Amino acid sequence: MKVLVINAGSSSLKYQLYDMTNEKVLANGRVERIGMDSSIVTHEKVGKTEVRSVSEILEHTMAVRRVLDMLVNPKTGVIESISEIDAVGHRVVHGGEAFKQSVLVTPEVKLEIRKLFDLAPLHNPAHMMGITAVEANLPDVPQVLVFDTAFHQTMPREAYLYAIPMVLYRRHKVRRYGFHGTSHAYVSEQAAAFLKQPLETLKMVSCHIGNGASCTAIKDGQSIDTSMGMTPLEGLMMGTRSGDLDPAVVPFVMNKEDLSVSEVNSMLNKHSGLQAISGLSSDMREITEAMSEGDKNAKLAFDMYAYRVRKYIGAYAAAMNGIDTLVFTAGVGENSSVLRKAVCDGLTFLGIELDEARNNERRKDTRIISADSSRVKVLVVPTNEELLIARDTYSIVKQQQKRQASTSQSES
Ligand code: ADP
Repeated sequence: MKVLVINAGSSSLKYQLYDMTNEKVLANGRVERIGMDSSIVTHEKVGKTEVRSVSEILEHTMAVRRVLDMLVNPKTGVIESISEIDAVGHRVVHGGEAFKQSVLVTPEVKLEIRKLFDLAPLHNPAHMMGITAVEANLPDVPQVLVFDTAFHQTMPREAYLYAIPMVLYRRHKVRRYGFHGTSHAYVSEQAAAFLKQPLETLKMVSCHIGNGASCTAIKDGQSIDTSMGMTPLEGLMMGTRSGDLDPAVVPFVMNKEDLSVSEVNSMLNKHSGLQAISGLSSDMREITEAMSEGDKNAKLAFDMYAYRVRKYIGAYAAAMNGIDTLVFTAGVGENSSVLRKAVCDGLTFLGIELDEARNNERRKDTRIISADSSRVKVLVVPTNEELLIARDTYSIVKQQQKRQASTSQSES
């Protein structure tokens, strides 16, 4: 079975074509600047060619058509006909309370996604454009939606409710949803498999630290708390996002600086975090480099960033009454040994001890970086959200095919 994984944004569309017989990516790429002049298509036939072209791509239906052309083109392609694509899996940022797992696209599901536009105005409408564009190009191909929020739907009420009037939850569904769920689910499964222990027996904290960053407490195989909230702004300090702050700061700053709602939103999402404190960059590579050259603001930004991760790990150890596994993933988590060290050095009281040589090794695979004497196993697990989307899509479509086959058998 071949599965096309799509991540549709408002002006971009990223894709990977998976062969599910061996879970290998055959081709991948992205269409950028959709709806602007000079849209850019970058396409890679894995291990062979990468091509880049500039053209006019007015909207998502055209973008999907371009992707399909690239996939069947004798030069850039990896399949002979688009009929070889058996299913399409979409990344969807917000599934609200309606979606606790991945689902097959139906008219009812599309209606529910529309109802969630308010909760994710920047993302869900774009995902819907992606779904419609696939429908227009591949009308008979089943589509599956995989939600960033779904993994966290197991959180108990005390973890997901905010202590504000309940009417706001009832009327507008104001609550913690959490994000990066696909990544937390994937790395927790990988870590358990690597340790050869059932995930259900572990008390794990997974730290997805990239441009966006979140920590999740995983107990009995389920997310019981996570640091991002109703939106991906809450929790850890991030590249350009503030993370936690006293909510009273918002009206105070709006008043003092005469800022509008959209200006304050932009300040907290795009002009805060590492970028704001260092005055230099939102990129951890540049921060650590400047820090090693003695830049004091970069050092402060780094220290604040690491401190916040450490604080959340401690909080989640308390939430689970213990911790035995700590996982680092995503751009910073997988690559920055300096950050991992800064986080773990303050956690020896929990039984977390890094092995310096293991931590400093530059590798791309799942590995243990804690010392043999460490009570808590610390792992680096490369995340692969696309693979989890492809796996969910494959298994949901397979189940549906089985159901259809057994119905037609019982009818005949
Ligand atoms: P996204 O959240 O956009 O998916 P990623 O998970 O790809 O982001 O993480 C991107 C971030 O990872 C970059 O901004 C950079 O700060 C960080 N990063 C990547 N490589 C390194 C590295 N070698 N050392 C430190 N940080 C790194």
